[in-house]
Amino acid sequence: MTDKTCTWIGGGEGCTHLAMEARSYCIHHYPLVYQEGTAVRRKKDARRAAQVWDLENALNEAVQELIDEGYDFNEDRWAPEAEEA
Ligand SMILES: [Zn+2]
Repeated sequence: MTDKTCTWIGGGEGCTHLAMEARSYCIHHYPLVYQEGTAVRRKKDARRAAQVWDLENALNEAVQELIDEGYDFNEDRWAPEAEEA
């Protein structure tokens, strides 16, 4: 445990709460200092990025599979009916 107090001075009043372990701020002010909203948004972005990354990986895998099967992506014609033959 730490006996440091929160170093928050926002609003002109010092905070008397104990600072979090290894932090300069209490549990109420630490998120404010580090912009909780931004952090949450970043987390959301990271999650979305991970989803896109997974999608991209899946797509790349599918593409690679097609290439392995001899599909020519340079052909500018998509002929789905050929698949049903
Ligand atoms: Zn505080």
